[in-house]
Amino acid sequence: MTGIDDLPVRDELRGKSPYGAPQLDVPVRLNTNENPYPLPEPLVERIAERVREAARDLNRYPDRDAVELRTELAKYLTKTGNHRVGMENVWAANGSNEVIQQLLQTFGGPGRKAIGFEPSYSMHALIARGTGTAWISAPRNEDFTIDRAAAERAIAENRPDVVFITTPNNPTGNAVPRETVLALYEAAQAAKPSMVVVDEAYIEFSHGDSLLPLIEDRPNLVVSRTMSKAFGAAGLRLGYLAAHPAVVDAVQLVRLPYHLSAVAQATALAALEHTDTLLQYVEQLKAERDRLVTELRAIGYEVTESDANFVQFGRFEDSHTTWQKILDRGVLVRDNGVPGWLRVSTGTPAENDAFLDAVRELKKEQS
Ligand code: PMP
Repeated sequence: MTGIDDLPVRDELRGKSPYGAPQLDVPVRLNTNENPYPLPEPLVERIAERVREAARDLNRYPDRDAVELRTELAKYLTKTGNHRVGMENVWAANGSNEVIQQLLQTFGGPGRKAIGFEPSYSMHALIARGTGTAWISAPRNEDFTIDRAAAERAIAENRPDVVFITTPNNPTGNAVPRETVLALYEAAQAAKPSMVVVDEAYIEFSHGDSLLPLIEDRPNLVVSRTMSKAFGAAGLRLGYLAAHPAVVDAVQLVRLPYHLSAVAQATALAALEHTDTLLQYVEQLKAERDRLVTELRAIGYEVTESDANFVQFGRFEDSHTTWQKILDRGVLVRDNGVPGWLRVSTGTPAENDAFLDAVRELKKEQS
């Protein structure tokens, strides 16, 4: 039987595995940091209306520059980010994964390097590989914070072209202090200069503020965002960035023409009309996230401080066996390969109760 290795695939892809969070059919799925609440019915209706309108023009290619959508995203950022941004600062793509891919295609690529502080979002390294960008993994501290001096040294020594800072970080949940981001930006400019990508996929769940205002006077800083988490629209595939208008111009060099379908643009615009309602779910999820942290600690687990819609908990001698035991109780959490730790996404109160019951039982079994 012909397998991948029998094909003339690029050398750097040989023997590698694709991104693959299990998609299992179990009662409680808390493994991919989705929003557990389905979209409210009035929004579903509005999407249907907007998509019906868009359907009348589907014989034509969509707005290649997604002007209306970028304008509405800019308004959302201005309203929530303590900083005025315009359409010219914003770019959108099919999920922030595609935003990151476009950034690496533009600023990384063969002969270039990107650095990340790991454990962090595994797709940064995978997209680097896919775009032929060399990946440098710099370690975090034992408690998953970034050691500022060590990170500055890693940047000075490696002189990367792209620096990824995920805040709040996935899978650990903790945020990176503003001063650290500023220091790493300065280190990156002194070393190369390079682009600094602040991945804020989970920022709406944070106790702190977005770093969006930092794009002012820093043309090499990019803030990446998504509608997959706070807007509860992971199925929509809509990510975006905010940066200096020159960055928006630069990514045009690699974006595929008409990459955002008219249906996606219409759906995202409908969701943005319902921002206030959707952000109320975020408040509920933040309260549930805090409850998970408190209860897990009360049961006797270690928990990493969380500014996201998920919680990293441990420690386990064998996290994979524990993952399986939790799954056997009908709850799917995530084993991200961080030794000793697992990650649970915040669900509905009932889902969180089911998860807490499962891990409480496990704790009793072990003691
Ligand atoms: N960044 C981070 C840190 C993430 O955790 C994720 C999704 N898990 C993404 C980006 C990508 O999200 P999407 O492509 O759905 O926007």
